[in-house]
Amino acid sequence: MRARFYSALLTLFWLLFCGSANSYAALSVDDFQLNDIAVWFPKATKLGPTKNGPTHKIIYEQEHIVGALILSSDISPISAYSGKPISTLIGLGIDGRIAGLAIVAHEEPILVVGIEEKKLTDFVNQYVGVKSSEKIRVNASDRKGFRGVDGISGATITAMVLNRSIMLSVKKMVDALEWPPLSRPDTTIKERLPDPTLEQLWQPRLDSWHGQDLKIWSIATALFLLTLIMFFQDWLVRRPKIFTPLRYGFLTFTVVFIGYFFAAQLSIINVLAFIQTYSSGFTWETLLIDPGIFFLWSFVAISIVLWGRGVFCGWLCPFGAMQELIHEVAIRLRIPNFEFPPMVHERLWAIKYILLLLLIGISMDSFSSAAKIAEIEPFKTSLTMKFDREWPFVLYAAALLVIAAFNSKFYCKYICTLGASLSILSRFKIFDWLRRRNECGKPCQACAAKCQINAIKPTGEIISSECHYCFDCQLTYWDDHKCPPLTEKRKKRERRNEKNALKVIDISNN
Ligand code: SF4
Ligand code: SF4
Repeated sequence: MRARFYSALLTLFWLLFCGSANSYAALSVDDFQLNDIAVWFPKATKLGPTKNGPTHKIIYEQEHIVGALILSSDISPISAYSGKPISTLIGLGIDGRIAGLAIVAHEEPILVVGIEEKKLTDFVNQYVGVKSSEKIRVNASDRKGFRGVDGISGATITAMVLNRSIMLSVKKMVDALEWPPLSRPDTTIKERLPDPTLEQLWQPRLDSWHGQDLKIWSIATALFLLTLIMFFQDWLVRRPKIFTPLRYGFLTFTVVFIGYFFAAQLSIINVLAFIQTYSSGFTWETLLIDPGIFFLWSFVAISIVLWGRGVFCGWLCPFGAMQELIHEVAIRLRIPNFEFPPMVHERLWAIKYILLLLLIGISMDSFSSAAKIAEIEPFKTSLTMKFDREWPFVLYAAALLVIAAFNSKFYCKYICTLGASLSILSRFKIFDWLRRRNECGKPCQACAAKCQINAIKPTGEIISSECHYCFDCQLTYWDDHKCPPLTEKRKKRERRNEKNALKVIDISNN
């Protein structure tokens, strides 16, 4: 039954994908005329024809060349959050400095919903006067060898993508044109560009990692620790005094650092963007923009293959961790728990898969529409924008957190499309390290009663696509005061020891 459900999902997935791919039509520099750049080049009299190599138009004042007009998405089409490049029109002066620039097209989800257009304009305006040879650091102050620019609050990654595509486009253009002299009629620009070395290729991609040592080392250390936890899980869950503080400490780190300080919450938007970049050609640029996102997605890719989606959902998702911590506090405050009957619970599971399919289908046609529907994810409101946005969004995110107090991880179980997408991929996991006994479910339900996700069937098997790898069931499994078959063995052992002790006393008395 479950296998049929997944194969139907995958088929629908494929049909939606094949039916709608490649529907994105990009702008070109040829779409712009003299009046579009009148503010940057007020004395310009004509735009020259586009030459070979990087697409551009030469800007003339009478017969004198004064600059070039380029579109970042033509020259450095770095996919942003939407999986599509942000198109920035750039007027480049003959001195190699940016004379003016404007964003002319984008489908960025964070900008479609949430960030005012003015913040975007303010951000790009900081690049006026910047020279192609300068190195820019977003969200940082000036430092030796670097110019600092303010980021866009709540859209750090988008700002970094914008920075990279603007600066890369400008540099490529200036190198290609060899300014001055600006034009050589019979030489194609492409022919003059040497092949980049490995270092030249990778170094600029990692420029945005400068000054992010704390983030890099914290997340790398946390992921290493989590790998150790996974490998030594049996040893740890037999020692709840070590495991329990370790787990809640880790969840707190996930909320505070990964979620709030580093803004590295993964999102369904990333998944939709991956699908988009798959159809338009994968590039490393986007994935490498933020080290936190890069490390987390790399770890998720590996851990899904090894253990399933649970390692991310149970340990690394800030919103998931927030819900779990709230539920834990609610338990301690003796707030009553509410669970749906099993029949209803299983049917509610389907909601997240249906939402996921809808999102994928819509994103193929219009990413900005999908981005609006993806607001069903409360991550942006609660973590990226720290509840600083319009009240309906705040109310929705806050309500989900309140519900989590009564019904553990309600959002994860029934609504989360990111969890649904990871859950589908979990079908291909290699290892099954969560232990079960013959008595599990037949008739014992002790572990099932402990599972806050309700991911254990009444028959005792763990539903691995839903499991969050929290190890609650494993703590019971190894506890000879909670697991009935183990308790039985312990009692027998104790009775035997008592008998033996009595025998010894008898013998010594005799
Ligand atoms: S189901 Fe969604 S919200 Fe819950 S832990 Fe997984 S990704 Fe996070
Ligand atoms: S209690 Fe066990 S089955 Fe349930 S989510 Fe945690 S690890 Fe998975």
